[in-house]
This record gives sequence, C-alpha cells and structure tokens, in this order.
Amino acid sequence: MDISIIGSGYVGLVTGACFADVGHNVICIDNDSRKMETLQAGRVPIYEPGLEEIIHRNVSAHRLRFSGSIREGVDNSQIIFIAVPTPQQPNGDVDLSFIEKVSREIAGVLTSYRVIVDKSTVPVKTGERVAESIKRYNRHGAKFDVVSNPEFLREGCAVGDLMHPDRIVIGAQSEYALDLMKKVYEPFMVPILVTDINSAELIKHAANSFLALKISYINVISAICEASGADVEKVADGIGMDRRIGRQFLNAGIGYGGSCFPKDVAAFITIAEQVGVPFNLLKEVQQINAGQKERFLKLIRETLWVLREKKIAVWGLTFKPDTDDIRFSVAIDLVADMLREGAHVMAYDPKGMEKAREVKAIAEARFAASALEATEGAEALVIATEWSDFANVNLALVKERMTTPIVFDGRNLFNPETMGQLGFHYHSIGRASVAPP
Ligand code: NAD
Repeated sequence: MDISIIGSGYVGLVTGACFADVGHNVICIDNDSRKMETLQAGRVPIYEPGLEEIIHRNVSAHRLRFSGSIREGVDNSQIIFIAVPTPQQPNGDVDLSFIEKVSREIAGVLTSYRVIVDKSTVPVKTGERVAESIKRYNRHGAKFDVVSNPEFLREGCAVGDLMHPDRIVIGAQSEYALDLMKKVYEPFMVPILVTDINSAELIKHAANSFLALKISYINVISAICEASGADVEKVADGIGMDRRIGRQFLNAGIGYGGSCFPKDVAAFITIAEQVGVPFNLLKEVQQINAGQKERFLKLIRETLWVLREKKIAVWGLTFKPDTDDIRFSVAIDLVADMLREGAHVMAYDPKGMEKAREVKAIAEARFAASALEATEGAEALVIATEWSDFANVNLALVKERMTTPIVFDGRNLFNPETMGQLGFHYHSIGRASVAPP
C-alpha cells in the first residue's frame, strides 16, 4: 500500500521504516528541514536499536523515502498517518496545535479520497475535531475518513514493538477505511481490536496512565520496604508471579520520566476533569513519582552530608536505556538538582550525551568518555538509568578510581551483597543499604 507519515520522530520514523520493511511504499514527512536533510543523506537522527539497518535496507529497495512536503505525501498515498507531537501545556491540557496545523495542511491539498489516521496520543474526541477541521479547509470537497490508531511502542525496543505488537487498536467509523487499515497491518499478523474512534483514543491514555500507576505502586512499596527492612525486589517477584498482576513495570526506582508518561498522566487527569470525573488516583501517582526522586536526593544528601564541592559521578542521562532520548528524564533532573546544590557532576551515558550537552539546566556538568572515566576521583557514584552497559563495567576498577566508594543505585542495577563484598557503601531503592564487611 502507499502510505505517508507526517512527523518523522521516534514514532513516525520507526513506524514508517517498519511499514516499508513489510512491503508498503512509505514517504516519511517532516517540517524539520535539518532532520529531513540528515535522513536524505543516509544518516539517522535518532538512536533506536535496529532502526538504522531497516531504514538503509528499505531506502535501497525504494520502498522508503523522505520529504518535507505534505502535498507530496497526500498526492501519493491512500493512507496518511499523523505522528506529530502532542506536548503538555502548563495547565495540563494537551497542546493540539501540531495536529490542527497538519489537519489544515492535509485539507488544503486533498483532491481525492484519503484515510487520515491519527497515531499521535490525543485526548478523546480529537478525531471529531480533526474531521471538522479537514472538512472546513477542504477546498476541493474531496472525500476522506478519519481513523484513530494509537501507538504503544516503547522507545529502546521500538522496532521490536512495531514488528510484534501485543495488539493493534483501530478506531474507525467507516467500513471502507477499516478495510484499508486492516490491509496495512495484515503483514504483521497480530490481533486487531476494532473500536469506535473515541474508545481508541481513550485506550491510549488509559493504558499509559495504568502503567505509570503500576510503577508508582511499587515505588510506594519500596518506601515501605526501606522502613520495614523488607526487600522490594522479592516483594515485586512475589506479586508479579501472580498472572493477574504480572512482573513487568514492577521495578522500583527513582520514578518514570520521558516524553509520554508524565504528559499522558497529566492529560488524562485534565480529560477526566473536563468530562466531570475527578481522577484523584492519578494525581496521587504524580505526587508519588515526584516524591521518589526527592526521597533519593534526600538519601544522597543525608549520606554525603553536604553536596557542595562533592565530586559526583552519574551513570545514565536518558529517560530509559537503549535510547538517546533525554526528554523529561529523571536523570537530567537529578543532575540539575545536584548541580544547584554545588556538586561537581561528571556524567556518562552511552547514547544520551550529545543531547544532554544542550540542556541549559545541566550546563555545568562535565561529561566523561566512559562509565569508568566518570568515576575518577568521585566521592559518590549515582546510577540514574539502567543501561546494561553499566552492569558490565569492572567494579573493582571503579572502586579503585573512586575517592570514597559510595554508590547510590536509583535503578537497582546491582546486587547489594556483591557490592558490599566489593568494598562499596551501597544504597539502592527499597532494599537495605550495605557497607563493606
Ligand atoms: P517527536 O517529537 O520525536 O516527533 C514528532 C515529529 O513531528 C518531529 O520530528 C517534528 O519535527 C514533526 N512535526 C511537528 N510538526 C510538524 C508538521 N506540521 N509537519 C510535519 N512534521 C511535523 O515525537 P514522538 O515521540 O514521535 O511522538 C509523537 C506522538 O506519538 C506524540 O503524540 C506522542 O505522545 C506519541 N507517542 C510517542 C511514543 C514514544 O515513545 N515516543 C510512543 C507512543 C506514542
């Protein structure tokens, strides 16, 4: 099928590449000319495992190309996906201006029937507004259908998630559009849930909010474990072995970040309020999440006494491993907080440093060439993102390099007993702190 994707970021670019890889002809469109030039020059502007290879393969096979022109996409595709940002406004509302602008632009160049699919995460009833807007600016009176097809991929394993999703949700009200959508997803051979448009839109916010809630639930339990001498990892295993609950998203840590969970939880609270349903449970989730980072900082402060002039190594800057995405990363917030208190931060991240260097709030941080180098002379090591690379660092060498071997593990990457035996003072989340024997 001939498909275009408007918005070639973490969602649009991966979706476009995977659609091409299963045989569709895809045009990825973006109004960021630098991004388009990079892609047209054969380079990939984001890091996502496996993505570069798929892009190169499909560009060579002439199934994937890049353009800055929405007209080119609309002229050459039966189906047009929208994957532009839907950021949070200061009052918690979703900023739908990107979606509205793209709807107008599509309408302006629409000359014959097209299916317009919203893949961005949007509040319930946005599909109706998109349809209204296209109708209003549809100069040629061309026919069209609007479909909702929320995306559930996780950054860091987006290609795998795209290729083997748990489910595809399609919200449609036209049988014809639904048939075309089923053809798009036929090669993936996965369960398709068909709903009305409003339900499809709601599913995405309900799913992300639930996952944020699950993380926050185990984070509260981690605080109870610390206060009572229990081990949160064991408790999570015990809960997670219950198939009704499941072990995923029960990893205690310094809280969720990223470009989705914080904004989607805030959006869902506002959406619920607007339809007259107070969602205080999610407000509590927000507080727990913010509190988790504060609890961790308090532990660092209490252990080191004062942060001013302390040399602190930080491992991890991205909001999760296997991505270069630092948007709303708790790790970046932590670094900013420690810098504000006068600490000297030496950070390392396998993929996130290029973007981190541009963040004003951490302009005073320095960056090391390796995880080991970051610990040279450090009085403490803070682990903020659970990259598997860190688990492979030679900890004996880390200890040798540090001035005082104190580790604050915000992601429970290491085994406390082993860390104690290696000679570290080791603090983690929801588990007893350990000192060298
Ligand atoms: P992103 O910022 O990485 O990418 C969006 C792209 O849209 C950018 O490249 C931007 O230049 C482009 N764009 C903006 N306005 C445009 C316009 N008028 N014309 C053409 N291109 C335009 O964002 P993302 O992370 O890919 O997220 C996109 C949407 O998908 C959001 O609604 C997000 O909530 C949702 N989502 C994201 C993820 C994720 O893990 N990142 C997962 C599921 C859903």
